[in-house]
Amino acid sequence: MSSDIPTNTMPAGAPAAPSTFTTPEEERMIDDAFREVLDGYLQSNHRKKVEIIERAFRFAKAAHSGIRRRSGEPYILHPIAVAKIASQEIGLGSTSICAALLHDVVEDTEYTVEDIEQNFGPKIAQLVAGLTKISGGIFGDKASMQAENFRKLLLTMSEDIRVVLIKMADRLHNMRTLGSMAPNKQYKIAGETLYIYAPLAHRLGLFAIKTELESLSFKYEHPEAFERITRQIAESEAHRTDIYNDFMKPIAAKLDAMGLTYEAKARVKSVYSIWNKMETKHIPFEEVYDLYAARIIFECDDPAQEKAICWQIYSAITDIYRLHPERTRDWISVPKANGYRALHLTVMGPDGNWVEVQIRSRRMDEIAEKGFAAHWKYKVGEGDEESELNVWLHTIKDILADPEPNALDFLDTLKLNLFASEIVVFTPKGELLTLPKDSTVLDVAFSLHSQIGCHCIAGKVNHKLVPLSQKLNSGDQVEVLTSQSQQPKAEWVDYLATAKGKTRLRKALRTLQQPAVNKGREIFEKFLKDNDIRDDNVAITKVMGLYKAPTREDLYALLGNEQIELNDYVVKTLKKESSKTKRLLLKLIGMGGKDEPAKEEAPAAAQPTINTKETYVLRYDEKGEANFRFADCCSPIPGDEVMGFIDDDGQVVVHDLDCPRAAVLKASYGPRILSTRWEVNAGHFMARIRIEGIDRHGILHELISLISKHLSLDIRGLNIQADKEVFTCTLSLLVSNVADVSHLCKEVRKIPGVQSATRIGEND
Ligand code: MN
Repeated sequence: MSSDIPTNTMPAGAPAAPSTFTTPEEERMIDDAFREVLDGYLQSNHRKKVEIIERAFRFAKAAHSGIRRRSGEPYILHPIAVAKIASQEIGLGSTSICAALLHDVVEDTEYTVEDIEQNFGPKIAQLVAGLTKISGGIFGDKASMQAENFRKLLLTMSEDIRVVLIKMADRLHNMRTLGSMAPNKQYKIAGETLYIYAPLAHRLGLFAIKTELESLSFKYEHPEAFERITRQIAESEAHRTDIYNDFMKPIAAKLDAMGLTYEAKARVKSVYSIWNKMETKHIPFEEVYDLYAARIIFECDDPAQEKAICWQIYSAITDIYRLHPERTRDWISVPKANGYRALHLTVMGPDGNWVEVQIRSRRMDEIAEKGFAAHWKYKVGEGDEESELNVWLHTIKDILADPEPNALDFLDTLKLNLFASEIVVFTPKGELLTLPKDSTVLDVAFSLHSQIGCHCIAGKVNHKLVPLSQKLNSGDQVEVLTSQSQQPKAEWVDYLATAKGKTRLRKALRTLQQPAVNKGREIFEKFLKDNDIRDDNVAITKVMGLYKAPTREDLYALLGNEQIELNDYVVKTLKKESSKTKRLLLKLIGMGGKDEPAKEEAPAAAQPTINTKETYVLRYDEKGEANFRFADCCSPIPGDEVMGFIDDDGQVVVHDLDCPRAAVLKASYGPRILSTRWEVNAGHFMARIRIEGIDRHGILHELISLISKHLSLDIRGLNIQADKEVFTCTLSLLVSNVADVSHLCKEVRKIPGVQSATRIGEND
């Protein structure tokens, strides 16, 4: 399994390999760890099938004996830890505990799925087989490995959800022990976790695990920010507790008077979400006012009473504090698609800040924390909550049945489905549809049926006629209007927010284009033959580059629709000497999209000189030539936290660590990711700064002279816009590192009237 590295061969330079025999001390450690798994299991509500669990433990221990993890621990401690998470943090039963104990046996030892079946029966064997399949080392370092793995993961998941839940436990333990991995592995695993596993955990309603996965990824990607924010949270705790106590006191008095049994606590936001807020809003830690939420969990034996009690508490709180009119969230009447139920409201606290209060019953709380597995425990008769998840699993099956030809597109499409806040809309018959935020009339049409989507001409939202691109709001009533003469259009893809819609539209477009594609293919083949050009990958790739067609099908369609013509120039280009062919080819691919080697058959970069296991030093030589280039998407500057990606030319492309494009690369091209550091004094770079403030006489003059004189920086571009009293100034300048920029922003903020000064990206 890529993330486990079962090592019996220690890498050179590592501390002396521990003996393959476990010491008595280690034996005790193993026994203790397993004892904890059993104890936790015995305290749960599951049937007590201890014998089979003990057998699975002994089997796994014998199978992994003599093997150690990279950290030096006996390997068996990993499956034990995974079993413990599956049991105690996700709430799974004996079958899953056994499968977790055995999850790496088939992958890493001589034993087969048949052996497992003989010893433990078909159910456990199936789970282990599923877990082995998705870890698959059989793909080597192919570019699409992660996407392909992910596809399998989801496919298996839709057969037995427990596979993915155990996989989650596996990933969580690997993240908890990530410290002992090589840095480039850490990036890859952390990136993949943030990109795939955390959203998946969210989608499955595993809130606690999702939060921990995000935090751990964040800790490895931004260690300094992680330390800093963790410290700031700790330092502000006493103050926060005081405010919270002030806030809760009158509420508690009321709830006590109502005779409720409840638990009230302050939940601090995770380090990761605080950081996210600071980054997206460009604000310092002190200004993240909603640092915590108050949570009230009440005891209630009768599920029929839960809803009424939630609203009673709501009413009690709003009697005391002023309610924020737009921030009440009723996830009791309409639960989230992942099963989350609670009543949220936001009120003005005694210190003048808004405080969110979450009201839940004990049962709702458990579902919120443990997610899907908790549903089984409570087995809701009508299957109401499960059906939401089933709907989602069906969508996944739909998408998987017809995957995108391009692995990266496929990942993006799927991710759409994992993330996204949701809205709920109604059909004219009053049926509920849960859709991602920003969904349009067209999304509704496609979610009803492919044919309805393809023939959609407009919609009626709340009885008013609207275009098919109309974005919907929660609570809208939506009717889809169709016409048989309507045809699906390529630009519709921009109107769609659902993965289902995008997949169905692309499929329809492909079908529609097929005659043109066939015709185009014939034209192309005849052209090669007539001009005596060899029909190989090189020829078509060159032509694709010339016409900037991203895929063969696109090129054929252009030809078939007579939008382009193959002329003498093309012949000349194709017949040029072939010694530089490869170079040219790569250049042509480059025309299609710079660092996008998405072609699956493209060979992994042959790059003998770069050792991806070592930190790559980004530097300039005497002539000022860099041993890397900056990515166009995020334009980092030296001093930024960046990572390297080896492109198809073997060149190192530097991306900002937070660049969305980098996230995709990390998740998809793990082996080509480099951890990097800057060589000191790396030269000069363009940075952009946005300054906002209140206009007053002379302020711009002060600003400019501060920048040019006092800081002797080189201004390369300046754009000032004033609207009434407010001005915005965008400044491009040459700096030598990120510290220069921070320093400048700090100085600028000191000018009276300036409200903010922050660095922005190339395209902001
Ligand atoms: Mn594992």
